[in-house]
Amino acid sequence: MSSFGKPVLLVTGGSRGIGRAVSLAAAAQDWRLAVNYASNEKAARAVVDEIRVNGGEAEAFQADVGDISVIERLFRAVKDRFGGLDGFCNNAGVVDYPARLDEMSNERLERMFRINTLGAVVAAREAVRLMSPRHGGRGGAIVNISSMAAIIGSASQYVDYAASKGAIDTLTVGLAREVAGENIRVNAIRPGIIDTEIHGSGGLPDRARDLAHMIPMQRPGTPEEVADAVLYLLSPQASYVTGAILNVSGGR
Ligand code: NAP
Repeated sequence: MSSFGKPVLLVTGGSRGIGRAVSLAAAAQDWRLAVNYASNEKAARAVVDEIRVNGGEAEAFQADVGDISVIERLFRAVKDRFGGLDGFCNNAGVVDYPARLDEMSNERLERMFRINTLGAVVAAREAVRLMSPRHGGRGGAIVNISSMAAIIGSASQYVDYAASKGAIDTLTVGLAREVAGENIRVNAIRPGIIDTEIHGSGGLPDRARDLAHMIPMQRPGTPEEVADAVLYLLSPQASYVTGAILNVSGGR
């Protein structure tokens, strides 16, 4: 895939949950890993150590994608370390406590859209700048992590989050068409309810299990099941797939 050795994948939020599973699965398939995290250095170190112990190559990169002034630096650091970028999993994202829109503060809304939307759009821009032949790159694959919330709307829980992910669906389709002629594929995954710590950060640590009865498959998904879909979209097996948004949601 890459003319500078094994292909390089950057995963934002690659240290925990879905991003961690993507990082580990990709390393097992011979990708070199740039594992981004925001604040939990220990978790990022653990992922990097696990990859290295298994013979892979990985490095942790701290950067809060909610601060767009540091995103350019993150991608430059990855390029300096690995020589380029072949894959990008645009995964970092947050939820907040369940609330109605008319109860949400300006601060909450700003944080939600800064991290989930603005950060993801700026990160996708930086990925294109490294991958596109227009800028000296060789192409690549981008997988954005959206959410089923983009379709469902998450009424009375977090319509802010749902809207922040709706923008990711739109970004995926538009950017895919924009760079399709530059050997860059852009796709997205819409996870359903996946068993990770994100639910605890929204004050509902048992949410994945509590809502299992609402899922046609009657269980939450695992981060590994989402990672399998991401790895497919990054792979040459998906060479004619772009602008696609794949639900990984147990039928929800
Ligand atoms: P998680 O378990 O809470 O893990 C979040 C990861 O993102 C951590 O590595 C965290 O790093 C990182 N992160 C958070 N804010 C960041 C920021 N501002 N800058 C850089 N990294 C940041 O979350 P998850 O459940 O795996 O979710 C991953 C993605 O899937 C998100 O986009 C989420 O919206 C989406 N998703 C999840 C579900 C679900 O049910 N779990 C469903 C649909 C979509 P630190 O540890 O350093 O904070």
